[in-house]
Amino acid sequence: MDQSKTAVVIVAAGRGERAGQSAEGPKQYRRIGGRPVLQWTVEAFLRFPMFQHIVVLIHPDDVDRAQDCLASYGDRVRLVEGSITRQASVLKGLEALREAAPHVVLIHDGVRPFVSERVIASVLDAVTERGGAIPSVPVTDTIKRMGDRGLIANTVDRRELFAAQTPQGFPFSLILGAHEAAVQQTALSFTDDASLFEWLGHPVALVPGEIGNVKLTLAEDIVAADTKLKGTSGMIDVRTGNGYDVHQLVEGDHVTLCGVRIPHDQSLLGHSDADVGLHALTDALLATCGAGDIGTHFPPSDPQWKGVASTLFLQRAVEIVRAKGGRVCNVDITLIAEAPKVGPHRAAMVACISEATGLDNERVSIKATTNEMLGFIGRREGIAAIATASVVYGEAEERS
Ligand code: MG
Repeated sequence: MDQSKTAVVIVAAGRGERAGQSAEGPKQYRRIGGRPVLQWTVEAFLRFPMFQHIVVLIHPDDVDRAQDCLASYGDRVRLVEGSITRQASVLKGLEALREAAPHVVLIHDGVRPFVSERVIASVLDAVTERGGAIPSVPVTDTIKRMGDRGLIANTVDRRELFAAQTPQGFPFSLILGAHEAAVQQTALSFTDDASLFEWLGHPVALVPGEIGNVKLTLAEDIVAADTKLKGTSGMIDVRTGNGYDVHQLVEGDHVTLCGVRIPHDQSLLGHSDADVGLHALTDALLATCGAGDIGTHFPPSDPQWKGVASTLFLQRAVEIVRAKGGRVCNVDITLIAEAPKVGPHRAAMVACISEATGLDNERVSIKATTNEMLGFIGRREGIAAIATASVVYGEAEERS
């Protein structure tokens, strides 16, 4: 089979509803390793100079997105609007290649970005004048057939079972003819191109696929693909931030520490409630995602923060962390003061921070120490706090 005239059809016209909604659009436009899924997929084929015609089927609503994503590849990549079903979209892609008249066409899922050169080459090698070829992997789960009332009817011999992948390769004229025949006979529910080819009695060879040639279907698949491309496979993206704050003690009758108002013979001076513990913690959380510090978000020059409870700052910091894909794991605050005693108020402080962060009590640590009567803290001129926060990133419901 002359492979020198080989074209590619990439199907990317779906809505990908199982992957959930995203500001980046359907899953083929979601970013993995910093770039849209579809770019990775298209580039896997661009590496082969023999593919001079790469048709990408897109949804009519995605024209701008697709152009942004693929315009830089030039004439080799052509965008064609797809149709409602996968099968109808592929037919449009094949029709768009009629003039180019390739001998062989590979049809590939736009959301299989990890297809390797080896798999593409194996499929090309196996396509013959009369026969198609598809990559596949053995089914490793034991497969049950369900009978009445949800009970197992029997166990299927999995040695005969293989899961189909793409790219699927065919002689161009035969697969185009098969798609046209299917429309004529209103056989419109084929889920891949090989099954349509088989339906007409054409042979299709199985060649070894790869486990890594996954189809990104669910939101978890996209997160896993992103992790893989960032070279952090198997590593959890844990980040730690620290924060430090001091406020001056002046004449007064109470202090607010870690969200708890404590009667005292002095007060902390500040624009807000001067809660050093929560200010240090707010900085620690913001630090885990490079989001600046408390002064960036709540400048003391802004009258709207005058006298406010610092739990508001903490809640905002938690929201910022979550919007960036973070999940707070634990927080730890050390208050450094000669007085008042913290012990009697610790449980109330933990409860306040647990509520603001959504953490279990055991993940909120509040410790206190004196400064051994040394320095400004020892002279009761001020109270200091240091805080540490750990946040795991990359598990967000959505990225903003
Ligand atoms: Mg402060």
